[in-house]
Amino acid sequence: MSTAATSLDLTAIRAQFPILQQPDPRGRPVIYLDNGASAQKPQRVIDKEIEVYSRHYANAYRGVYEFGQIVDDSVEATRQTVRDLIGAESQEEIVFTSGTTMSLNLVASCWGRHTLKPGDEILLTEMEHHANIVPWQMIAEQTGAVVRYIPLTSDYRLDLSDLPGLITERTKIVAVTGMSNVLGTLVDPRPLADAVHQVGGVLVVDAAQSILHQQHHVVNDGIDFLTFSGHKIYGPSGVGVLYGKREHLEAMPPFLGGGHMIERVFPDHSTWSPPPAKFEAGTLPIAQAIALKPAIEFVQELGYASIQAHEHDLLVKATEQLSEVPGLKIYGPGLDHKGAIVTFTLEGAHPQDLAFLLNKKGVCVRHGHHCTMPLHDKLGLTATVRASFGVYNTAEEVDQLTDALHYARKRLRLS
Ligand code: PMP
Repeated sequence: MSTAATSLDLTAIRAQFPILQQPDPRGRPVIYLDNGASAQKPQRVIDKEIEVYSRHYANAYRGVYEFGQIVDDSVEATRQTVRDLIGAESQEEIVFTSGTTMSLNLVASCWGRHTLKPGDEILLTEMEHHANIVPWQMIAEQTGAVVRYIPLTSDYRLDLSDLPGLITERTKIVAVTGMSNVLGTLVDPRPLADAVHQVGGVLVVDAAQSILHQQHHVVNDGIDFLTFSGHKIYGPSGVGVLYGKREHLEAMPPFLGGGHMIERVFPDHSTWSPPPAKFEAGTLPIAQAIALKPAIEFVQELGYASIQAHEHDLLVKATEQLSEVPGLKIYGPGLDHKGAIVTFTLEGAHPQDLAFLLNKKGVCVRHGHHCTMPLHDKLGLTATVRASFGVYNTAEEVDQLTDALHYARKRLRLS
């Protein structure tokens, strides 16, 4: 099994994922199309966690004994790999968190407290995940700042036609998704970076979805803060990343107080370690941070160009086939502007019933508002169904999704 557009050997790729080699709990092949929620793990990631726990587990940055040293070096090796992945200038700019949600809360709280004054503006987009809305609302309430939104065009892209009206002297933060987890819309950070830097603000990119599919280069793209989760990039759950430009991490106050983030604690006050330790209070997700490295290496070995080409083929095929299903409507921009996510509704079918019926054919998709209530309100919907692809998905699985949709229509007596 290989793809025409690229040299990717899908049989070899799939063979690396033990979960894809076994039947699901009902004995059927696994057709996993919920990568937007979380991606499966290659054997090397699983092996690495087992290796840490069974061969040299210790807390990180605590012990001078051998195990402690191995753990410290391994965590630092992941930091270096993340730095290479996103083109950061130094590994001190890479902070480990529990995931995108914590990373975004950290930036909102720390950078927000550091910069925001009443009347200042935080600019989001209408397609953000709740993780890139709620923390900003919380800090806006505390500081008197105002949250505004970049609107979408009728074809589900960012409407930047009035950029000078959107990004003004009041704008201190622009926080945007790299790729919508519903529409699949890809966002070019560069024009936003240029505009917000001109008024002295910062650009935050929520790369939770995009990191799986496309290259980010924080320096070339002018990104001040970038966030992602290990579990969406074929890595462990429980670990995430916050990239912050060194000068920003140095300037802003810490998020959580506790062990490791301090330089000196006195009875009445404390001083902080330099970044990244300043933002890593308490015990890290040790094995998870270490096992993030092989996950990133898996992506780097395949290369974003090949991943994108293969996923684009799947996206084209899925869009063509699903568009022919009577009553089915897809939400998202033209295929040149989106990543491998197909979100849809089927007339006469509740999204939950549809997801349930697709599962009867072994197809795993997500239904609901996908943590994007404002976007769903804008679409005039309460819920949708989402098929989201990863690099191990195949053209045959797109056929199986289409067949399952026809099956669902029959079961719902829509045909
Ligand atoms: N942002 C986007 C665009 C997402 O898709 C998600 C996960 N669905 C998140 C943020 C939150 O990620 P996590 O739950 O890993 O913190």
